[in-house]
Amino acid sequence: MTNLLIVGNPFTDEERSRLSAAHASAFVGTPADIAAMDMTLRTEVRAIAYKGHLPFDAAAMDALPNLGVIANFGVGYDAIDVAAASERGIKVTNTPDVLNDDVADLAVGMMLGFARDMVRGHLLVASGKWAEQALPLNRKMSGASVGIVGLGRIGREIADRLAAFKMDIHYTSRSEKQTPGWTYHADVVDMAKAVDWLVIALVGGPETVNHVGRDALQALGPDGVLVNISRGSTVDEGALLDLLESGQLGGAALDVYNNEPNIDPRFRALTNAHLQPHQGSGTVQTRRAMAELQLANVTAFLNGEDLSTPVN
Ligand code: NAP
Repeated sequence: MTNLLIVGNPFTDEERSRLSAAHASAFVGTPADIAAMDMTLRTEVRAIAYKGHLPFDAAAMDALPNLGVIANFGVGYDAIDVAAASERGIKVTNTPDVLNDDVADLAVGMMLGFARDMVRGHLLVASGKWAEQALPLNRKMSGASVGIVGLGRIGREIADRLAAFKMDIHYTSRSEKQTPGWTYHADVVDMAKAVDWLVIALVGGPETVNHVGRDALQALGPDGVLVNISRGSTVDEGALLDLLESGQLGGAALDVYNNEPNIDPRFRALTNAHLQPHQGSGTVQTRRAMAELQLANVTAFLNGEDLSTPVN
C-alpha cells in the first residue's frame, strides 16, 4: 500500500531515501505528473512530501481522492494553493524556524559581499593580477541604517545580526513589535526614505506581490541598496531592473527572483548587484533538519497524531 507520494525533482537522493525508508512511497517529478499516474496508486496516496516552486494546485489535489496532507519542504508554501487544500479538508505543513539562522546568515553575507565588493576582490586575487590592479574603495556597512520589510521569524534574525553591526534598525510589519530602540514604520515607502539598506523578509504569495514597488525603490534612491531573501514576487522586478540599470537605485543583493532558475537576463548584465542562486537554507545541516521536520509531519499524519507544524 503506497501511502506517500514524493513530488518534486529538487529532492536529493538522501532526502528521498529517508522518506522512502519510513513509508511505502512512489515518486513523480512535478505536480502536473500526478494526473498521469495509475488510478489504483492515486487512490492509495494519503500524504504528499513536496519540494519545489512549481504550483501545487487544486487539479493536482483532485487527482488524489484520499489525500490528507501536503507536507512542504521549506517554510514558504506560496507554491501550494492552501485555500484549495483547506476547502478539500487537506492539511498543509511547512518547515519553519529550523532555517532561520541560515537564511539570516546569507542575508548578512550578501550585504557584506555587496558592500565590500568581495566577489571582485576574490577574482582579482585569483587572477594573479593583484600587483597590477587595486580594488576600488567600497562601502562601509557597519553603522548604516537598515529597514527590514517583514519582521517575522527570519526578519527578526536578520535584524538581530545587523544590530551587532551597530546598524540603526527600522522595520515594517502588519503590527508593531516589542523592539525597544528599533523604529516601526507603517508604510514601506516612508521607511525606504529613512534608510540606506532595505531587506525584504516577507512571505510570498498573492497578498505580497510587488509589496516593494517602484515608489519604494525610488525612495531608497541612488545610494540605497535592496536586499531580497524572500521571494522574487515581493518586489516589482521590472522597476528594480530599470532603476538598477539607470543608477536611480544604488544596488541590490538578491537570493530570489521571478521565474527561477531562468531569470530575466537583464540581471546578468548588472554591475551593481550581488546575485545568489536561491540558496538561503542551503547548508547540509539545515536541509537535513528541514527533511526531518517534513518527515515528522508526514509520519504524524499517517499515524493519526498532531502535526508538528501545520499551516492551515
Ligand atoms: P514569517 O515568520 O511568517 O514572517 C513573514 C513576515 O511577512 C511577517 O513579518 C509578516 O508580517 C509578513 N506578512 C505576512 N503576510 C503579509 C501580508 N499579507 N502583507 C504584509 N506582510 C505580510 O515567515 P518567515 O519564516 O520569516 O519566512 C519569510 C519568508 O522567507 C518565507 O515565506 C519564504 O518565502 C522566505 N524564505 C526564503 C528562503 C531562501 O532560501 N531565500 C528560505 C526560507 C524562507 P507580520 O509580522 O505583520 O505578521
